[in-house]
Amino acid sequence: MLEDKYHISCTGLYKIFKVSDLEVVALRGVDLAIEYGELLSIVGASGSGKSTLLNILAGYESPSAGDVNVGEFDLLGINQKEAVEYRKKEVGFVWQQTGKNLVPYLDVFSNIELPMMASELSGKERKLKVKELIEFLNLDSISTRLPENISGGEQQIAAIAVALANQPPLLLADEPTGELDDETSDMVLEKMRYVNKNFGTTVVIVTHDPKIEDHVNRSIGMRDGKVVKEVLKSRRSKNEYVVIDSFGGVQIPQEILSKSRIDSKASLTSDKSKISLNKILKRKK
Ligand code: ADP
Ligand code: MG
Repeated sequence: MLEDKYHISCTGLYKIFKVSDLEVVALRGVDLAIEYGELLSIVGASGSGKSTLLNILAGYESPSAGDVNVGEFDLLGINQKEAVEYRKKEVGFVWQQTGKNLVPYLDVFSNIELPMMASELSGKERKLKVKELIEFLNLDSISTRLPENISGGEQQIAAIAVALANQPPLLLADEPTGELDDETSDMVLEKMRYVNKNFGTTVVIVTHDPKIEDHVNRSIGMRDGKVVKEVLKSRRSKNEYVVIDSFGGVQIPQEILSKSRIDSKASLTSDKSKISLNKILKRKK
């Protein structure tokens, strides 16, 4: 069944914002399928609809038309109460602005503990889980500091820990490295990769920066509210070897054609073996 294979599936997804008498069509028929355990980027210029798509996947916005399913949730038909529950359990979100990710007057430890307050965990269990996350993401040296006393990169890694606090199967990040220099960006993106690899969390990162493609396993493009291309990447070779256009047609890059050597292993599927749940973040069913 489609729902079993894909963690996220969107078909003909539209989002129209009404601003006084004007209608802004932010998404115009997005078709997208993301498997469990994928590490994927969505790359597009400013205004292409990336944040709108991510906000719909996070349950912050409701779509105007089309289908969108995440796990067992049908986000088109979801009511407000269900959306709150969905956000609490199913998704972690990292924003570009660190100010949106971390509470300024709480230290890193308490920031990570905060989303757990609404869970059924006892105080002792919560502290243990926070400690495990801190260790996992290497945040020991800054756990007692306030956000203003750590670097931008450290803030974003702390934000990843906050997003993972309730062990969501899906991590969404909207331009998470937008305010960071190249070196720090690499560090943050590699942490996301680490989370994906070790927890099996599905990770979707949106950005306007095509360099992100070096850090993910698959990258798709967005333009004018639509998915325009899909680039399959081999991390080993870092070469782009096949492009699927928005109509499903396959385009093979010229340099590969000229070498007449097409990787027969090129495949649309991701490595399922990545879904290895760490005992720390084992999801409670
Ligand atoms: P991106 O994240 O790729 O920069 P957005 O999803 O933020 O793109 O925006 C896509 C389009 O939708 C833009 O034209 C933007 O102005 C419009 N838009 C986004 N959010 C709203 C909103 N809340 N109200 C009206 N228009 C919006
Ligand atoms: Mg945006």
